[in-house]
Amino acid sequence: MKVYNGKSVFSGIAIGKISVYKKGEQQVKRTKISDTGAELARYEAAKEKATEQLQGLYDKALKEVGEANAAIFEVHQMMLEDLDYNESVENIVRSQEVNVEYAVAATGDNFSRMFAAMDDDYMRERAADVKDISERLLTILTGSGSGMAAADEPVIIVADDLAPSETVQLDKDMVLSFVTVHGSTNSHTAILARMMEIPALVGTKLPLDDSVDGKMGIVDGSTGIIYVDPDEQTLAKMKERKEEELHKKELLQTLKGRENVTLDGQKLMLYANIGNIKDLAMVMQNDAGGIGLFRSEFIYLERDQYPTEEEQFQIYRQVAETMAGKRVIIRTLDIGADKQCDYFEMEHEENPALGYRAIRICLTRPEVFKTQLRALFRASAFGKIAIMYPMITSVQEIKRIKEIVAEVKAELTAHKTPFGEPEQGIMIETPAAAVISDLLAEEVDFFSIGTNDLTQYTLAIDRQNTKLDEFYDSHHPAVLRMISTVVENAHKAGIWAGICGELGADQTLTQEFLAMGVDELSVSPGSILPIRKIVLETNVGEYKAGR
Ligand code: PEP
Ligand code: MG
Repeated sequence: MKVYNGKSVFSGIAIGKISVYKKGEQQVKRTKISDTGAELARYEAAKEKATEQLQGLYDKALKEVGEANAAIFEVHQMMLEDLDYNESVENIVRSQEVNVEYAVAATGDNFSRMFAAMDDDYMRERAADVKDISERLLTILTGSGSGMAAADEPVIIVADDLAPSETVQLDKDMVLSFVTVHGSTNSHTAILARMMEIPALVGTKLPLDDSVDGKMGIVDGSTGIIYVDPDEQTLAKMKERKEEELHKKELLQTLKGRENVTLDGQKLMLYANIGNIKDLAMVMQNDAGGIGLFRSEFIYLERDQYPTEEEQFQIYRQVAETMAGKRVIIRTLDIGADKQCDYFEMEHEENPALGYRAIRICLTRPEVFKTQLRALFRASAFGKIAIMYPMITSVQEIKRIKEIVAEVKAELTAHKTPFGEPEQGIMIETPAAAVISDLLAEEVDFFSIGTNDLTQYTLAIDRQNTKLDEFYDSHHPAVLRMISTVVENAHKAGIWAGICGELGADQTLTQEFLAMGVDELSVSPGSILPIRKIVLETNVGEYKAGR
């Protein structure tokens, strides 16, 4: 038995034959041609065919993994129209009087190397996409076949790397899992794997030869291990675990569509946390009742300059429309501390977690804040958007926010720009906010408790410092008492209170939160059904009596 470690992209266990997937190497020869016009006409025809193929892949992905994840094939179609890419191909053909296959291969290499050398993670990952479209064009131009070799039984695919188009072409019924030597956990391929719910590993240093190909394998997505040619004991143990997981998963699936209500009738809103519109498919698949925290700062972090009002509006609108009337709580930008954005040009700080961040930036740079607010108010006309303000410590801050909001609405009205009336709430993530939550509750529509920061500030422990992990007690009575007080004060003022920090997903506390009267938990999409199960099995009255 051989054991290889990788990074897990999706958990679960797969047991079956391993099939090593090798990409058909495109051997491109450089040949002189005389009719450059005819050569470029071949290029145009290949592009047209590639666009058709990508549309087919988009349609397939749309059905199987949802709109947000199918979007990569739209991006590929756009890349085929990229001016720089096309100019490079044309230039090579015309200036060197060579065949278009050579021009495409050279352009693909140059562009993917250029992307790979960029600092930005997102741009670096585009290198694989450029390669992918170039390979597609070459396959069409040379008339060679493409895709996975047809297997006659479901297999564990082991590959050097897989492009998004290759991943989506996998016949789901014939693929038990995939394991790649390269690839990052943030790549589109990894995201697609998660959406397909196939156990998958990336960054697994295993040989792609006969020592692996055709052998029996076990992929354990929870530990990130692939066992090649497992011994009897390992096989028996993993089969047992697979059965257990399957059983659990089946049970959870039956909970889709069910209301989150306890045995004694207490209801809970179970929402999802997202950082990106790409996460929407998971939100839908896990039957979230809404989005409880959209960390909008990721829109800023992904870019190297301020996102425009229009860019933001399109994103917020898409989320609101996709959620079709379900509540979507968008948190205004929470830049600062660990989330640094160069173009905000912030000064060095001794204590950034206690520094210039989140609402403090928004209130001192109203133009940045107003751009986001305009986008949010406009998008509110397309669904049930709620706005949430982070890092609040005082009533004065809320009063100032309200003044700025009033200015934004007046401007939109003056420009005859339609907008909605979103609910407006705040995060309770500072001890100050928790202590004066009775006063804050009079000013807003809802509270969402950010336990990550609330714990950090209450216990005076830097949440980024791994050396302090043993002191970071998220069940500390001070934190739990604050949560309880905040919920009580919210209810006294007639508003609801939820939790969107990581503690909300702690299943050992679900019953306690219900007992405190927490109205909403916003968790990562995969935690929704397991929490629903606990809610359905809980009798809050009995739990309270026994505590
Ligand atoms: C929190 O602090 O609990 C929270 C949800 O916000 P973030 O983790 O983004 O700081
Ligand atoms: Mg926070």
